[in-house]
Amino acid sequence: MTPARIPLVLLPTPMHRLNRLSAELGIDLWIKRDDLTGFAMGGNKGRKLEYLIADAILQGASVVVTCGAAQSNFVRQLGAACAVRGLRCVAAVMDLPYEPGHEVAVAPNSVGGNLVLDQLLGVELTHLPNGSWDDLFAATEELALREEALGNVVYRIPIGGSSVLGAYAFFKAAEEIESNPHFDVLVCASSSGSTQVGLSYALHGAQTQVIGVSCDPEPDLVEELRRLAYDLDDMLELDRRVAAEYLVLTYEFVGPGYGVPSEEGNQAIEIMARAEGIFLDPIYTGKAFAGLLAMVKRNQIRGRILLWHTGGLPALFATEARLED
Ligand SMILES: *Cc1c(COP(=O)(O)O)cnc(C)c1O
Repeated sequence: MTPARIPLVLLPTPMHRLNRLSAELGIDLWIKRDDLTGFAMGGNKGRKLEYLIADAILQGASVVVTCGAAQSNFVRQLGAACAVRGLRCVAAVMDLPYEPGHEVAVAPNSVGGNLVLDQLLGVELTHLPNGSWDDLFAATEELALREEALGNVVYRIPIGGSSVLGAYAFFKAAEEIESNPHFDVLVCASSSGSTQVGLSYALHGAQTQVIGVSCDPEPDLVEELRRLAYDLDDMLELDRRVAAEYLVLTYEFVGPGYGVPSEEGNQAIEIMARAEGIFLDPIYTGKAFAGLLAMVKRNQIRGRILLWHTGGLPALFATEARLED
């Protein structure tokens, strides 16, 4: 089955070699520029939204309900997609939702960054105090039920747009790199999982090892990747059972927690900026590149390597709110 799609982003995104870093690191390093999707300040969520919003419209929805962290790149891009298609965008957010046992001691209580853009786009945000992911999901469902009680047709989108349609978008995205050159390794930041699953599924059998650098300490993520891969397989009917061990996810570079910058990530951002004039973000792509650098240094990966830049740049401009004195 081919899902419906509405065009939102500029495709294909550019892909090019990083000459200075390649020379410095002794590898053949390339970058895929999904930071340049040309929609709502770029990022990987635009690709998913082409299918998710098409589906929402097919289902006759007038309201889309989702959730995320306050600095969610997904909520920002969804807000733009809803705005241009005349849908309302309702989102429950917490500064730092956490997995019980993984609370980060200091909540950043962020301002600026994506929140500025959400407001500009007319996203209807419900900003909740920090709690667990389950608390956030429960609050989101309450918002959806409230809309339905008002007679509105609601389209629910899971966190990060990681339904099977999100994975399908990245299955299609892999077509943009399938020609030449051949990559030995593809590294991407992973959180809700559909980016990695779509790419892994597409490249399974292509001798390209896909490594997801988790930006979230949640141990169940691997399970979610597997489930998404099965769902994608059911949808495409390609009978390409992607083996669990092929869905490689490393938790080594999460740093202090989900949504919190890491020292290595910040260093990696600086290295990329000064060598290539390309900006990465502190929550996802900086950590992914830190992982890539560490794995190269340890000789765990070599050859022709592709960093899939998933965007996230507004987070560079998010700052901590000053607490009341
Ligand atoms: C959402 C996001 C990711 C992770 O993508 P998933 O499909 O949710 O795993 C990576 N980088 C950035 C910048 C993101 O916004």
